[in-house]
Amino acid sequence: MGRLVVVSNRVPPPADKGATAGGLAVALKAALRETGGLWLGWSGDTAEEASGEPVVRTRTEDTIDFAVVDLSRKDQEEYYQGFANRALWPLLHYRLDLVDFDRRDTSGFFRVNAMFATLLAERLRPDDVVWVHDYHLIPLGNELRERGVRNRIGFFLHIPWPPPDVFMAMPCHQRLLETFTAYDLVGFQTDHDAENFASCLRRAGIGRETAPGRFVAGERTFDVGAFPIGIDTRAFAASAARAVANPIIRRMATSLDGRALVVGVDRLDYSKGIHQRMLAYERFLKTDPARRGRVVYLQVTPKSRSEVPEYAAMQREVAETAGRINGAHGDIDWVPIRYLNRTIKHTALSGLYRMARVGLVTPLRDGMNLVAKEFVAAQDPDDPGVLVLSRFAGAARELTSALQVNPYDLDATAAAIAEGVAMPHDERIGRWRAMYARILENDVHRWCRSFLDRLSEAAPPPRDAVELRRAS
Ligand code: UDP
Repeated sequence: MGRLVVVSNRVPPPADKGATAGGLAVALKAALRETGGLWLGWSGDTAEEASGEPVVRTRTEDTIDFAVVDLSRKDQEEYYQGFANRALWPLLHYRLDLVDFDRRDTSGFFRVNAMFATLLAERLRPDDVVWVHDYHLIPLGNELRERGVRNRIGFFLHIPWPPPDVFMAMPCHQRLLETFTAYDLVGFQTDHDAENFASCLRRAGIGRETAPGRFVAGERTFDVGAFPIGIDTRAFAASAARAVANPIIRRMATSLDGRALVVGVDRLDYSKGIHQRMLAYERFLKTDPARRGRVVYLQVTPKSRSEVPEYAAMQREVAETAGRINGAHGDIDWVPIRYLNRTIKHTALSGLYRMARVGLVTPLRDGMNLVAKEFVAAQDPDDPGVLVLSRFAGAARELTSALQVNPYDLDATAAAIAEGVAMPHDERIGRWRAMYARILENDVHRWCRSFLDRLSEAAPPPRDAVELRRAS
């Protein structure tokens, strides 16, 4: 195999910048290190002025080259904030009520993808394998083919894919769907997402399925499959076991003073169902007033995408609800919800998960939800906590021993919190073991290998077709 080339919207910062790398970055770096490789994407910075030519900055760590480019303000607004985060993100999370389709943003999205393709095409070697990540870069494979690139190219979507009736509300749905035919392998988090995608292809009349998961469209053959992402399970479990000594964990333990901890950890995003979760917790308190003062719900919620208007409105709503519940139900020595708008690093987070009696992971829709898997990985095998998990998270397909809930059903979620808090030791152990076995087996390293193995087995790109296109 040649080099692995990873393309994603954001590229991890240098290892010495102090940020703890997430599981995905750890796994991809490990894969890149094996073959030597290149990771290309947006720097996260906005260039002061659009200078015309994109400025690429490079660095090398071990055998991995990193190349990042700044975006102009216009590119950032149209490609990232606009099309990616105000059209694709809500649409792919089934939120047609929140989409904002805009032709300028759409053309900015395709323009930035074309720019990334130009930068990448000139750096590619003939035997490189290219792996494109996530919704920001859907058209990248097609742009690469247009530039004569004939390497194997895979695409993985980290977020959900909705059924045709939702997806086809997007004005450019046909154009976007057609770009997928440029890939050799298209991966989704769950079989449901892959089926929804296949239904969209059928409805749009793109290609035909010649074998399960194999599509032929014109001169191209491509595979579609489910590759549920994992976490670095062993590393996370080890970090949680060590975390008892962490000062944050000690402070938390002291402040709990014997009360049961219920924990939620999410970016402040409308897909996470934080508002509904708080209302469900309030019902849990109201159902049995004896619970007051015995439970603390910690919601760790770093703000995200605050510049997008739909987020600002939701952030106000969640903060107001937390305040109202605390005002209505709190006491002089007890606050029902501890609501934090800050990021907690994995080292401390793993300890908080381990200390919790219940982990509340109740997104309205989520591609996978890594927090659910981290919560399971972090538990003490002799005294594990209980995971309350939305059935609309991708993780619910694997973590079938969680207490699964419909997050729109506040009464059912409240009942699941009560069941979690009171669950007998034996049942907690039984449920946890089944979930832990699953995430130990399907960790992020296996996910990475299985996608790349399948990509290497995909039908080879049609050389003649590419040559014909180049000649014309
Ligand atoms: N996270 C973190 N600190 C925080 C909140 C979240 O490190 O204060 C991490 C969390 O541990 C997880 C990731 O952010 O690894 C969130 O991933 P997930 O798939 O749950 O949701 P996403 O934010 O990608 O939609």
